Amino acid sequence: MSDRVHALEESACRIRRHALDMGEAQGQGYIGQALGLADVLAVVYGDRLRFQPWDPDWPERDRFLLSIGHYAIALYAALAEAGIVDVAELETYGADESRLPMSGMASYTPGMEISGGSLGHGLGVATGMALGLRQRGNPARVYDLLSDGELDEGSTWEAALACAHHELDNVTAIVDVNALQADGPTSGVLRIEPLTAKWESFGWRAIRVDGNDIPGLLAAFDELAAHRGSPSVLICDTRVGRGVPLLENREKAHFMRVESHEWQIARDQLEETYA
Ligand SMILES: [Mg+2]
Repeated sequence: MSDRVHALEESACRIRRHALDMGEAQGQGYIGQALGLADVLAVVYGDRLRFQPWDPDWPERDRFLLSIGHYAIALYAALAEAGIVDVAELETYGADESRLPMSGMASYTPGMEISGGSLGHGLGVATGMALGLRQRGNPARVYDLLSDGELDEGSTWEAALACAHHELDNVTAIVDVNALQADGPTSGVLRIEPLTAKWESFGWRAIRVDGNDIPGLLAAFDELAAHRGSPSVLICDTRVGRGVPLLENREKAHFMRVESHEWQIARDQLEETYA
């Protein structure tokens, strides 16, 4: 394993540990998604994004938009790993007066670019931001993280059309395909496949990858970084609860309740995964 991959594996482990610690502070939450997405976030923050931890508003920073506001726990874990938020602050997650509310709020949290909550807005915001950046000659890129459930939203596809129309090659969408959404398995709620062909037909450069395979993610991001002339999308198949067997096959995995005695089991299992 290369040093680059090894360092990112360790980073992904820390992101998962942070997510478990925050989950325990509330006893419940979108923990399965955070565990599933940790490898993607490790690669994005550890290898891809240009930012200055000491200056979250640096004008030339790459923008990372959390369209899925309920994934805030995952992003806080990544922001702590990136040095933008103090690790010690994570224990305030979800508490009154905390800068880390359960749904992502741009006005509360350094490094949180947009407020989430209502789904289907992130890609439209990304399109507008990318147009503005290009117009000002700012080389920053805009990344927008969507969920597969968010692909049910018409506004997502309207934005996909606009983004391609304006040939915004400074946009990279990342879709977390965990095959699950609030109302159940994505395949039962609204069929969205074939995803790669769908994005390509909207004028996007699309790559589909195992979102829990760090070497594969690195290769895909490298390939997309060289692409010009249209926006690009990385479709990431992830597994809910990844790295913690106790939580990988849980019923009601969308908003997970974990018993108080189970948190230490979960942490122990995570350590075993990375042993
Ligand atoms: Mg989903």
